[in-house]
Amino acid sequence: MKILVTGGTGYIGSHTCVELLESGYEVVIVDNLCNSKREVVDFIKEITHKEVIFYEGDVCDKELMRKIFKEHKIDAVIHFAGLKAVGESVKVPLNYYRNNIGSTITLCEVMNEFNCKKIVFSSSATVYGSPKELPIKEGFPLSATNPYGRTKLYNEGILTDLYVSDNNWSVALLRYFNPIGAHPSGLIGENPNDIPNNLMPYIVKVATKELKILSIFGNDYQTKDGTGVRDYIHVVDLAKAHVKAIEEVLNNTGVDAYNLGTGQGYSVLELVETFQKVNKVEVPYQIVERRPGDIDACYADPTYAKEKLNWEATKGIEEMCRDSYNFAINYNSKHQN
Ligand code: NAD
Ligand code: UDP
Repeated sequence: MKILVTGGTGYIGSHTCVELLESGYEVVIVDNLCNSKREVVDFIKEITHKEVIFYEGDVCDKELMRKIFKEHKIDAVIHFAGLKAVGESVKVPLNYYRNNIGSTITLCEVMNEFNCKKIVFSSSATVYGSPKELPIKEGFPLSATNPYGRTKLYNEGILTDLYVSDNNWSVALLRYFNPIGAHPSGLIGENPNDIPNNLMPYIVKVATKELKILSIFGNDYQTKDGTGVRDYIHVVDLAKAHVKAIEEVLNNTGVDAYNLGTGQGYSVLELVETFQKVNKVEVPYQIVERRPGDIDACYADPTYAKEKLNWEATKGIEEMCRDSYNFAINYNSKHQN
């Protein structure tokens, strides 16, 4: 079975390619490298000892997408390609709508032309907006608080409409909570070029002394220690869920949404303390103002993914902290020489 992975050299995409290859799937990647590096293709090969086909280009480019489908009999698609910085999406919303929604429309049009109607889509827990209750279940009301979140919500709607129009489609909407960690080989992981927006990449850069001090955004939330609580999930666990979702879409038709989290919430302070302990490294921090738009707590009820996909997260917070740091150390040592 051949799977097209859009955004396959990115953080979650690269880990998913590894898991697909290790499960016996063939993998074709398309990525325009706007937020990743070509070397990732070689690292995927190095980890798996398998071949990967790579196309450098944009998913919005219909002729390129047609070329890929002509050259390969694609059985299903995992659509990771997209821009993901919430703050940037507020500043340049049209870029987000063009890229994140345009790519989905072009991709689905070409899939229709080639009669490939099986798709796994990268959605996000952000589609729950500010949840009224915890843990979050898939049936909770959906809303968006910024353009990035709206692209996820609209894409979920577009894919659902597609299924309603043609019941031969099979769509899995995967709502990720907070992916962190890296492959235990230390070869692939998350490596933002700019100053990170997310907590774990920021902690890592403070630990490696690339940044001075972590700012913790608020300690007056309604949580165990006042700092924000999130459901952190190891990226390898997340990647394995995609293999299960691919099996599901290959074998069934329909549209379904799945929460992918551990079900366990950790506060910012808990994450920082665990990181320091596991890696025996200092992470200096200061408490600053809340970040606008942040919610107190967010964690999943992952029961449905367990029941329907036979998937659950197995890796704990210590492993997440260790693997994130291990990747950074390995990456920095390679790129300094
Ligand atoms: P990433 O930026 O590492 O990966 C996305 C990849 O898509 C990059 O390699 C980028 O070069 C590529 N890309 C972007 N637009 C493209 C286009 N038009 N054509 C071809 N390639 C394109 O991000 P990630 O963390 O791996 O996220 C993958 C997906 O999961 C995204 O859709 C993101 O919104 C979603 N998601 C991520 C998180 C998270 O915290 N990382 C949480 C929820 C959802
Ligand atoms: N956070 C923080 N300092 C940072 C980045 C994030 O205190 O430099 C906090 C943020 O307020 C939230 C948690 O860490 O409570 C997770 O934030 P992240 O941006 O990683 O994920 P999201 O907000 O999208 O869940």
